[in-house]
Amino acid sequence: QRAVHTQGGDTIFALSSGQGKCGVAVIRVSGPQAKESIHQMCSFRRFPAPKSTQLRRIRDTDTKEPIDRGLVIWFPSPESFTGEDCVEFQVHGGPAVIAAMVTSLGKLPSYRHAEPGEFTKRAFMNGKLDLTEVEGLGDLIHAETEVQRKQALRQMEGDLGKLYTDWRNRAMKAVANVEAFIDFSESDTLEEDLLCEVTAEVDRLWTEITTHLSDHRRGERLREGVHVVIVGRPNVGKSSLLNSLCQRPAAIVSPIPGTTRDIVETALNVGGYPVLLSDTAGLRETEDFIEKEGVYRALQRAKQADIKVLVIEATEFVHLLQTHSIDDIMINHLKDIGLVSRLQQNTVSPVNVQTVTKDGDLQDDANFISNVGELIVVLNKCDLISDVDLAFIEDIVQKKGCLSVCHLSCTSGHGMEEFLKVLQRRLAHVCGNPLAGSPSLTQARYRFHLEKCQGHLENYKKYMELGDVVLAAQSLRKVLFDIGKITGRITTEDILDIIFKDFCIGK
Ligand code: GDP
Ligand code: ZN
Repeated sequence: QRAVHTQGGDTIFALSSGQGKCGVAVIRVSGPQAKESIHQMCSFRRFPAPKSTQLRRIRDTDTKEPIDRGLVIWFPSPESFTGEDCVEFQVHGGPAVIAAMVTSLGKLPSYRHAEPGEFTKRAFMNGKLDLTEVEGLGDLIHAETEVQRKQALRQMEGDLGKLYTDWRNRAMKAVANVEAFIDFSESDTLEEDLLCEVTAEVDRLWTEITTHLSDHRRGERLREGVHVVIVGRPNVGKSSLLNSLCQRPAAIVSPIPGTTRDIVETALNVGGYPVLLSDTAGLRETEDFIEKEGVYRALQRAKQADIKVLVIEATEFVHLLQTHSIDDIMINHLKDIGLVSRLQQNTVSPVNVQTVTKDGDLQDDANFISNVGELIVVLNKCDLISDVDLAFIEDIVQKKGCLSVCHLSCTSGHGMEEFLKVLQRRLAHVCGNPLAGSPSLTQARYRFHLEKCQGHLENYKKYMELGDVVLAAQSLRKVLFDIGKITGRITTEDILDIIFKDFCIGK
């Protein structure tokens, strides 16, 4: 743990609870003079015991006029959130009470209002949290859905930090061994065995880091929101599907307020998973330059989406089934929209077309899906086909097995529950279970440094093979640097600025 080195600096304060009228407001104070706020604002015969809650009349520091009656909690250093002396006031949440509290604290010598994230920054500086825990805390504050919350909490509690610190410690031991070898090799006291051991450890580290990196970005997708795009030919009901999803009063879908990042993207909470849903109006051939540009961008977005929902009209589907296989129909639609290129089509279709006629097996579906990404097929306007046709479709789809084909009517709402279940299953697949297994990699920043570590470990082995132990040791040392950047053992002001600017004031 770092020493408490903010002692001697300013004492900071801020409203830590939300803005606007509320039952209770929490005002936090942290710093060397924190105790002074209790002396000046509350009357105690004896100073309160640490972490005990006291109901007191709270007065202005200067005029001594009462401001409110509220709770006071004293957290002496180092057993506080920031590691410094801290005081927490819980007062009534009216704007005038809050304003009077803030004004009163501002009049105390060496007191100043906190900057965004400054409490957390002090906690980090004092070794209370590493950077992954800081970022987990930031994510927890920003978490909009249940599954995001679980991932953030796990990270805040240090699981990811522990994993990275463990790798760093093991790399450090390996470095020490190689350096010992360099220093003593002439006296023959250390055998080659030691280097073999190091090489084995380097292999293990490389494998563990590589496994952690090949996670299909599940942690990052959960953190940022899963991109789901609705594709299909014009008029099949794409906008209708998007609208009915957004206006759904049902329990498992709810709009995430205030998070519309893009006019064409709607943020939704689907069963606890964050979804960024978009429609792809106008994905078709056009000569108009501006429109072309729009189509191009929509196509790029659709290609990069984590999950694609392909909408096909049920009547057309029934009709096509007379002469085509399901895979054929899907590929043709995807090709029309531009989502499957001619090249891709050649690589995927022969396998699938052949197997579909023999009822297609799971293997080939997986093959096809992996080329297009996660795909859900929605047969819309099922209200327009007969029950006989519906049964026909169901039969074919059932035979086909694993494919996600849903029948739906956006007008009647029929089939929506089933579609949402399928979507939710796909979301769970894309995001994984944040509580199961090893903790997820959640940020591009971690990925960047870990990919560098992979390279350093590979270089270590390369130099060893060339017999250059000194350069090998240097490569290994770089692993310490890059993991240190992740956990914050090695920091620069600009990285900290980026991380803490996303925090709210009072946190
Ligand atoms: P988009 O071009 O794919 O976005 O299609 P729209 O959502 O604009 O829908 C095209 C037309 O199909 C509109 O007139 C909708 O009212 C109609 N429509 C959409 N869904 C259904 C449905 O489930 N049943 C029926 N009968 N009509 C639908
Ligand atoms: Zn539309």
